[in-house]
Amino acid sequence: RARFAPAVLEVLRRLDAAGHRSWLVGGAVRDLLLRRRRLDPADLDVATPARPEQVSALFEKVIPTGVEHGTVTVLGPGGVPVEVTTFRGEGAYLDGRRPSSVVFLSEVDEDLSRRDFTVNALAYDPLGGELRDPFGGQDDLRRRRLRAVGDPAARFAEDGLRPLRAARFAAQLGFALDPATRRAIRPALAVTAKVSAERVMAELSKLLLAAHPAAGLALLDATGLLEVVLPELAVRPPAARRHAYEVVRRAPRELPLRLAALLHVLPRGGDPAGGAEAAARARQLLVRMRFPGAVAELAAALAAAQGCVLAAPRPAAPRSPAEVRRFVAGVGRERLAPLLALWEADASAARPPARSRRELATLRALRARIARVERTRPPLTSAELALDGRAVMEALGLAPGREVGEALRHLLERALEDPGLNTAEALTSELRTWWARRPGRA
Ligand code: ATP
Ligand code: MG
Repeated sequence: RARFAPAVLEVLRRLDAAGHRSWLVGGAVRDLLLRRRRLDPADLDVATPARPEQVSALFEKVIPTGVEHGTVTVLGPGGVPVEVTTFRGEGAYLDGRRPSSVVFLSEVDEDLSRRDFTVNALAYDPLGGELRDPFGGQDDLRRRRLRAVGDPAARFAEDGLRPLRAARFAAQLGFALDPATRRAIRPALAVTAKVSAERVMAELSKLLLAAHPAAGLALLDATGLLEVVLPELAVRPPAARRHAYEVVRRAPRELPLRLAALLHVLPRGGDPAGGAEAAARARQLLVRMRFPGAVAELAAALAAAQGCVLAAPRPAAPRSPAEVRRFVAGVGRERLAPLLALWEADASAARPPARSRRELATLRALRARIARVERTRPPLTSAELALDGRAVMEALGLAPGREVGEALRHLLERALEDPGLNTAEALTSELRTWWARRPGRA
């Protein structure tokens, strides 16, 4: 009991005192039994027989988050939010049959019967110390198994998001799917295809950030869900897909990086080195999938850069200091660390092991070269040049315009070649020479 946040106990006590026996439900109970709980206070769900207006009347601070679904968010002591949802009644029939007079469900059990998986269909009353487990959820927790509540085919036909949730929970919990539940996915693919892009994106994000993302991805792959959520990847050869899953598993646990790891095996369509076209295509894909703009942008850039450095036959890794400076400038300092992390994941996932060792050695050498070059803090962007736009305009007697940018790009190009040029005097003299020789100058 001491393990519960005081907020949820206070909420339950107050509901109880008003005559509404209420229950902690959902992920909090499951994770508590798994001792996996980080007791994430943002994720406390309470189920109650009280109507939303009755709940609202009992607490000072209530946010009507989803009254149409019977949910209000109560701000407990310390402002901790607790989602309180009125029991959902009628409509769910165990094993596809109407509840007979023999199977009598209490209100809370009936609420649980509408939930997706047995391990999510647990309710706990910490005040009375009672656990409701009408569908064998604890047994499935022990067997590390996801099993739909009731008839899986019917449950998936009812809500096409559930198969995706199954893959997501498999990835988060490291559980296997019960065979009947797994078999029910394929016949429900058409239902899953109708789920909104936002909800698919949310599940896919959780899956990618989970502890066992490769297992979740393998499940999407084997059940046909991948064709529904990411057809571009589903048409890649099986070995490329497996490699992508393995790279995701080894990539840092950040959404843009894991997306990049997943997408770096998409075809580059004859777009070699820079990868600008590949990046644009990946960005479009991610935006269409409703990933936030910044996530899509970074993931696409990394996927394209990773694909272009690592694609076989790949351009040789940069060697000379000037090549290394151009490489870092091209990637951007802020994207360098994530790109190298992805490259590391990619190299360590490469097969056969000899190739993996070779790629890792190449990567180590590149890291060392980058460190050596960076020690002198060479200018890598025009903002780091000893001359700024104003100085360029002054030196050449120019008004603001396209030529100023051109001049700065030229100076950066020269400074990447030779960082020793990055003084006001040397750059000014370089600038004058360039300007005088510029084609098109009268
Ligand atoms: P998490 O730790 O990711 O929050 P969770 O199990 O709490 O996991 P939620 O998406 O927060 O998952 O949902 C809370 C509970 O609501 C679930 O445990 C489940 O009982 C029920 N639930 C959520 N979505 C569905 C659905 N599509 N169909 C049936 N039941 C659902
Ligand atoms: Mg939850």
